[in-house]
Amino acid sequence: MRKIYILIYAILLFSCTDGSKKPEIANESVLESSVTPKVKWSLLDSINIVEFNKDIQVGKLSIDVGVYFPSNLDPQFEKVALSRLLGSIRAAKEIYKPTGVQINLLWVKTGELNPKYFSIQANEIPEVPLTEYVNMYEHMRRHPSELTDETRAAFESIVEPHPDNYHTIYLIVLEDVFLTFLEVNEGRNWIIKSVRTGGLSFPTYTYCNTIAPPYRGVISITNLSRPDRYRSTIAHEIGHKAMNVSHEYKETNPGHEIFSDAGLMLYGQGEEIPAGKEGRWHLERLHLSPFVYRLNEDNTKTWNPDFEEGGHYYDPIYGDKVIHFQGIPPIDEDW
Ligand SMILES: [Zn+2]
Repeated sequence: MRKIYILIYAILLFSCTDGSKKPEIANESVLESSVTPKVKWSLLDSINIVEFNKDIQVGKLSIDVGVYFPSNLDPQFEKVALSRLLGSIRAAKEIYKPTGVQINLLWVKTGELNPKYFSIQANEIPEVPLTEYVNMYEHMRRHPSELTDETRAAFESIVEPHPDNYHTIYLIVLEDVFLTFLEVNEGRNWIIKSVRTGGLSFPTYTYCNTIAPPYRGVISITNLSRPDRYRSTIAHEIGHKAMNVSHEYKETNPGHEIFSDAGLMLYGQGEEIPAGKEGRWHLERLHLSPFVYRLNEDNTKTWNPDFEEGGHYYDPIYGDKVIHFQGIPPIDEDW
């Protein structure tokens, strides 16, 4: 008897929630995912952009950079000050000068961002670990990273539509951006880790074509407070986008974290962007980047050709300006 009562109660409960509540919730979630409210940005006119870009010359290769700096970040957040951000962009101009590529600041904009996007997890947890049969770049082409839904929604909310979206670098100041990755532990086991980033470039060698073109240029900036990294942070992140390489230098094959002062693309004080095969074609890859254009006399821009295969490391636009190398066994040889 008691069993029957429970059964009837369960049926009533189920049909009640199913009939009256669920459709309402479903509608709400459809609305939220299909229409992400756009931030109303306004120009921060305290910055004299013409003065800031007085180094820019007609006829030279250039990269456009825009800055979105939310106005309502938590008052305790002090890791990115506007003055430091501008200082790091100015330093990027100096660091790229020997390459013949100019860094052009388009604007700095401010506005109220939905606080749920202040801290985001950049990517879905990777499902397949790296093996020794292919190198890191080949592995990433087969298994590109994917944005989380929340990060995708954040980008849609932040980046304003523009015909040049897919060639423009957007520096977005946020409080925290976490990157999840797999690391070997105890021989053959892989564990999931999440690292707190100071700057994350969402490069095409990692994401290939899983990021929609308008958001391909996004770089998050979350920490410029460390004096040892502040000068080169923005130049380094632009390097991931525009050279389309990971942390690597001359004979050093790419890896997640390599500490050395040798070149701009390692973690350290280095600022060199090497050329030629011995320099892993960094300079040549920069000059071929779809984020680079030549500034014409009439102020128009002649853009480099776009990626042909979503921008993986070996994308055909790079021709022979690529390095072929063996994968390293990430796990114990015995396994
Ligand atoms: Zn890096």
